[in-house]
Amino acid sequence: MHSNLIDGIWRNSQTALRNDNPSDLDDVVGEYASGSPDDMREAVAAARAAFPAWSRTTPQQRSDILDTAGSEILARRQVLGTLLAREEGKTLPEAIGEVTRAGQIFKFFAGEALRMQGELMDSVRPGVEVLVSREPVGVVGLITPWNFPIAIPAWKTAPALAFGNTVVLKPAELVPGSAWALADILQRAGLPAGVFNLVMGSGHVLGPAMLDAGIDALSFTGSQRTGQSLAKACAVRGIKVQLEMGGKNPLVVADDADLEQAVECALNGAFYATGQRCTASSRLIVCNRIHDAFVTRLAERTAALRVGHALAVESQIGPVASEAQLANNLSHVAGGQAEGARLVYGGEHLKRTTRGYYQAPALFADCTPDMRLCREEIFGPVAAVLRAESYEHALALANDTPYGLAAGLCTRSLALATHFRRHAEAGMVMVNLPTAGVDYHVPFGGRKTSSHGPREQGRYAIEFYTTVKTAYLGS
Ligand code: NAD
Repeated sequence: MHSNLIDGIWRNSQTALRNDNPSDLDDVVGEYASGSPDDMREAVAAARAAFPAWSRTTPQQRSDILDTAGSEILARRQVLGTLLAREEGKTLPEAIGEVTRAGQIFKFFAGEALRMQGELMDSVRPGVEVLVSREPVGVVGLITPWNFPIAIPAWKTAPALAFGNTVVLKPAELVPGSAWALADILQRAGLPAGVFNLVMGSGHVLGPAMLDAGIDALSFTGSQRTGQSLAKACAVRGIKVQLEMGGKNPLVVADDADLEQAVECALNGAFYATGQRCTASSRLIVCNRIHDAFVTRLAERTAALRVGHALAVESQIGPVASEAQLANNLSHVAGGQAEGARLVYGGEHLKRTTRGYYQAPALFADCTPDMRLCREEIFGPVAAVLRAESYEHALALANDTPYGLAAGLCTRSLALATHFRRHAEAGMVMVNLPTAGVDYHVPFGGRKTSSHGPREQGRYAIEFYTTVKTAYLGS
């Protein structure tokens, strides 16, 4: 069994999680510890005990450890990518890309540890100076989803450690392998005992235990339902909280768009990574004049996508990550048809030589904004095309959602691009690019019900992982 890491010691648990390969249900990736509330309490206590010494380490010490971890992740990207593809189901190139991203994030925050700055200014009172400095928040709990098994743990852990916090990570039940590998790398990179703790297992069991054990801050990525209940629980306990939740991201295709480019953006944004990205383009809002050509061409390209085993070189789309997610996708496909949307292509469960959760990407047309297909996050390879009378109508449809993570526009007009950038109600806007696919050195996050609290990633990560102190210095 792969153990939990608590206070620098690998500890087994009474029960285990079986990590299955969604490309091949006969391939068991491994057995992983499933922690108890006591394990979580001990992990939080270990992080609490380790905090004073870790928060007083020099930026150089923290930077060196993060840099070492980043180097190992990058050096082992092939092996770690294979593990990730086996447990989550994204294709090997996608998985290696994600691992590379995780390594780059550690390198970036190795630099950020050295750039933790304050401000010194004159007081409004004579003879007094004001120093504004940043300090770590304390013990940070991290709860992560299954769709980015190493990148999301990395983009939360790296800034937390860089700025002097100690960490307890609770990864998603479905994908403990990549988080375990990350813990192993961090441990060997030289982190003192208790600075980083890993407790794998059920969110329903370990989440409440984490909050009750007395963490100072919680960074969560996952579904809206879980996030909103955690936000309430954190508010009652005075825990600083940051939530990244779902999306129902629009890609608007203006009449003047380059057809092939727009189709490529839609195909990538809607279906790559099996549509299991919070930034996936699940609503394709297409202006009247280009609409029919766009739907015809996108249907051809979708039908040509090769769905298969995540490790097979010819696969472009891996399996859906779990049985429950596949059932959810199929029920949305059936529901879309029942609501009157036109299924242009796909949507069915596919058989391959290995037993897995394969699904043909589903493309719907003639959708209306009130359909569930257009309102609820599906989190799978299901895209809905809405017809718009004009760019203004398309923008109104794009903003007609409780979510606000990413929004895209395909156009050749600078004026439209500028207008969309200013008026799309989303945290991230992409022009002539897929809505999914972001950089690690700039802020990541959304508006409305997609996100809550400060942004993640880039220099902006410091807002969540530090607290500000204002000191008045008299003479
Ligand atoms: P989920 O909410 O079911 O689970 C996320 C994590 O929360 C898991 O680790 C789970 O064990 C844990 N959890 C479950 N119940 C809990 C509880 N009561 N208390 C504490 N923790 C609990 O989400 P998921 O199915 O793993 O992930 C899919 C969702 O994540 C989608 O909605 C997707 O949009 C979202 N997501 C968002 C982003 C983003 O940055 N906006 C990125 C990736 C995924």
